[in-house]
Amino acid sequence: MVNVPGTAPDITRIRSAVAAFVDGAGFDWAALKGSRAAVPLAEICESHSLCLVEMSRLTHASVGRHMACLGVLSLPPEPSRCQIAGYIFGDVNRAFIFINRDDPFARRRFSLAHEIGHYMLHRGGFLARATARPKPVPVAMEYADPREAEADAFAAEILMPWELVAPDAMPLHRGEIGPERAVTRLAARLQVSRQAASRRLREWPGAS
Ligand SMILES: [Zn+2]
Repeated sequence: MVNVPGTAPDITRIRSAVAAFVDGAGFDWAALKGSRAAVPLAEICESHSLCLVEMSRLTHASVGRHMACLGVLSLPPEPSRCQIAGYIFGDVNRAFIFINRDDPFARRRFSLAHEIGHYMLHRGGFLARATARPKPVPVAMEYADPREAEADAFAAEILMPWELVAPDAMPLHRGEIGPERAVTRLAARLQVSRQAASRRLREWPGAS
């Protein structure tokens, strides 16, 4: 991973934001982390002032049209016609989150978690951010904007807290299962992409 020195996300602050989001919805974060099951992200969202919209062929333009239809406001014109993974628009009290319906389920789940990260960490005022789709073959993670690194870290912490990663990470690092099997098991159990599972397993604190 390529990170500018001094810009690594403050993981303590991010974990506090995750706990506040989950507990604020009436879920017991400690109990969820103590289970072996995927975090019920959509259900947790329902208890917050978030309006979730899944759209095919999501672009800046389609977000702008949808917001105009809702009578919220018109977004400034955006020249790019590229599809995006997600978009958040909101303020301190509420937010609209758009997710690209054409992406696979696990990718949509991560996009939602990423946008919630922006909502919890960056909503001091007006908030309008797009999240690009990942490159097909990521060589290195580079974050031009530290808020993107923070939102990704939030997504990893809420979808793959270490307590939920442990059932696959520990046998992997004891040599009882291979990396392919660990990635497959973790991705299936926590409903994340293989890419996200693989990255999280490489970050396991016990990894050498
Ligand atoms: Zn983002």
